[in-house]
Amino acid sequence: MTNTYSRQSIDEDDIKVVCDALRGDILTGGSKVSEFEKALCDYTGAKFAVVMNSATAALHAGYLALGVQSGDEIITTPITFAATANTALMCGANVKFADVLGNGNIDPKSVEKLISPKTKVITPVDLGGFPVDMDALNLLAKSRGIKILDDASHALGSSINGKKVGSLADATVFSFHPIKPVTTLEGGALLTDDEEIATKARLIRSHGIIKKEAWNSDMISLGYNYRLSDVACALGTSQMKKLDKFIAKRDEIAKFYDAKFEKSPYLSTIKIPANVKSSHHLYPVLLFREFWCAKQDIYEELHAQNIGVQVHYKPTYQFSFYKNLYGEMSLPNVEDFYRAELSLPCHQLMSLEDANFVVEKLNEILAKFKGCKVI
Ligand SMILES: *Cc1c(COP(=O)(O)O)cnc(C)c1O
Repeated sequence: MTNTYSRQSIDEDDIKVVCDALRGDILTGGSKVSEFEKALCDYTGAKFAVVMNSATAALHAGYLALGVQSGDEIITTPITFAATANTALMCGANVKFADVLGNGNIDPKSVEKLISPKTKVITPVDLGGFPVDMDALNLLAKSRGIKILDDASHALGSSINGKKVGSLADATVFSFHPIKPVTTLEGGALLTDDEEIATKARLIRSHGIIKKEAWNSDMISLGYNYRLSDVACALGTSQMKKLDKFIAKRDEIAKFYDAKFEKSPYLSTIKIPANVKSSHHLYPVLLFREFWCAKQDIYEELHAQNIGVQVHYKPTYQFSFYKNLYGEMSLPNVEDFYRAELSLPCHQLMSLEDANFVVEKLNEILAKFKGCKVI
């Protein structure tokens, strides 16, 4: 199965727990929510988890819980899904885009140049599951009172020096969209070790309303309905039991690709250092410069062979909405990464034969386009 770069895997256990949850009395707001939150804490080592109905909701709640308000600045990477920056705009903040490293993660040196007295939050993304260098970012942030909100939508199960993503930043966001490491259909979570952040995020998740006594409640802050149902949470808890198995399978595919592409005349891969474990949400390859002008043809030929490659990502600042807001901009490493990157199929329903098929077809197609034109 190679027709998509990533996908869910749902088994009979998952279906059974969802059916059981559907037959229950409480479909939302019940005990399955805290069970899923506990499973996330147990797995990552974070103290608090607040599940929500998307990572987008969790990012929005995360910025708000970290105190982001109108006029503040946040610094993030443009090599991400639009929601990373959008949710800061939703708080009235301004977004500063930093350049990236060769692995596609935010470059701490570029972040440093963008820091101003207005900087409230730095939002890195663990691209494809490769955890960002949190020590380098903490060095910039801590002394200045800046908070770090890690968009770890790709990185549930990733770790660095044995420490799991989820407790490395002030707050961390995961996505449970079907293509992400585990799924609750739609869904996301905010994890933190800080009780105050967790409490604020919980309030934002449910209208800012607290119960007092009997029918008497109070609304103490502006909130939303960002809740995740008990049915979805039952699926999430069931999926968590299989996360390590999913990652082991993706690791096997990734290692196969690594070996096959080691001496590739067409592309380079992103090396995962020995102290890092990646969830391998993506397997990005970086095409050599001579293929950049033919990337759309290469993409289309692969899709014609039923190989569902994708590009991660069109830089956020290239969207017309952002151009209207901030004008034209261009960051050199971001531009190069965008032109070089292609995400190959890498998921738990693939076999090594499938991976070999991808390698052979890709090599065949790239041989054809070699030396088209250097841009
Ligand atoms: C998928 C994704 C999101 C949004 O996740 P949803 O759960 O669909 O809202 C945000 N950031 C990144 C980096 C993502 O990949």
